Amino acid sequence: MENKILETRRVFYYAKKVSWEYIWVKNPLYDVNLHKEYIRQGTYYNVEEYIEKEIPKTIRKKCSHIEYRIQCLHCKGTKGWVRRKDAKYCSSNCRKLANKEKKHK
Ligand SMILES: [Zn+2]
Repeated sequence: MENKILETRRVFYYAKKVSWEYIWVKNPLYDVNLHKEYIRQGTYYNVEEYIEKEIPKTIRKKCSHIEYRIQCLHCKGTKGWVRRKDAKYCSSNCRKLANKEKKHK
């Protein structure tokens, strides 16, 4: 028996897997006058005084999948969203209960 699909939706989410990328950003600690002063004096200055700074940035891949709203054959509820197009039950709980009932008949 085919179950009717009442509604479809696309669900967007970020993948759990994280990767890294180095990006250049404006350094908030940068001071033009201090920078000029250091150059004039010929002193070595550390990274904190540079205009831009390279920082690591996390990248999370954007993913999506389609979900279907169906009427559950067990609880008759229509609020369940499922990933499978041919799903008959709203949850694994309903599927288990339905199978139990089948066995008793
Ligand atoms: Zn159900």
